[in-house]
Amino acid sequence: MNFINNKLETIHLASPQGFCAGVASAIEIVDLALEKYGTPLYVRHHIVHNTTVIKDFENKGVTFIEQLNEVPPNSVVVFSAHGTPPDEYKLAKERDIKIIDATCPLVTKIHREAVRFSKKNVQTVLIGHNGHQEMIGTSGYVNADLLYIVENESDVEKLNLNPDQPIGFLTQTTLSVDDTKNIIKKLKERYPTISAPPKADICYATTNRQEAVKDLVKNCDIIIVCGSRESSNSNRLKETAKLKGVESYIIDTVDELDINWLKDKKSLGITSGASVPKKVVDNLLAKLTSVFPNVQIHYLNNAEHGIKFPIPNI
Ligand code: SF4
Repeated sequence: MNFINNKLETIHLASPQGFCAGVASAIEIVDLALEKYGTPLYVRHHIVHNTTVIKDFENKGVTFIEQLNEVPPNSVVVFSAHGTPPDEYKLAKERDIKIIDATCPLVTKIHREAVRFSKKNVQTVLIGHNGHQEMIGTSGYVNADLLYIVENESDVEKLNLNPDQPIGFLTQTTLSVDDTKNIIKKLKERYPTISAPPKADICYATTNRQEAVKDLVKNCDIIIVCGSRESSNSNRLKETAKLKGVESYIIDTVDELDINWLKDKKSLGITSGASVPKKVVDNLLAKLTSVFPNVQIHYLNNAEHGIKFPIPNI
């Protein structure tokens, strides 16, 4: 049975939150491809890491696959926003598969840096979560003999790079800004000549959403992040709040909300990851306002304006 909470007074909504430009264009690309080619339409890997988005597309007839050999020749396949290794483009060509590329341009930029490093024989330290789709994609652009994956500071200690050969680092786009700063500091201590990418690889959307959570925690005694378990940037939002000492939870949809978390809490902060549709947060708010009809909702206002990525030819 639920408790009666007379204390929850306010809900603060982080800003910015929700869709980034890369996710918005990836979703638009799949919709346009559906309009033009109809079904079957295949998408290699989940187009973005959010179960609501994936279910909506499955309901429209999209088939998600992991390997190109799962589709017949001459099919149309959309490559996900996280980026795809070069071998898959080659394989698609060999099998007469039409590719529609929804890779976020900010991920493509890192692929180009990776290729540039490998052409110059640079030992490339790739900072990120091993096994994440973006890391799999980016790793494919680095010469395998030059690739070193680092997830945390202790991995830096284990590195054994040749100091007489050039060294550089790249990062996944959706990491914790603070953790990554510490990893890079350690790398620079061990390898002072290490080259940094020309512009930070952690993307604007990740950075802005983590900053927004840091603002949010100042006024809240609990944070709920809307985001799927597999979403790197959403998980980092939860961690950011926790590191600031504030109790925090991640929920995929409103069904995962446990009202007991709000017992004795006065002020709740809500944010959402870069791949989360607005309706997920709206459903959460609807539930909360039905349970706490007198709660005040505050909308913070630091929206990102004018960031839109071009849509490729479909
Ligand atoms: S989180 Fe950043 S890198 Fe990833 S899709 Fe969005 S804008 Fe692109």
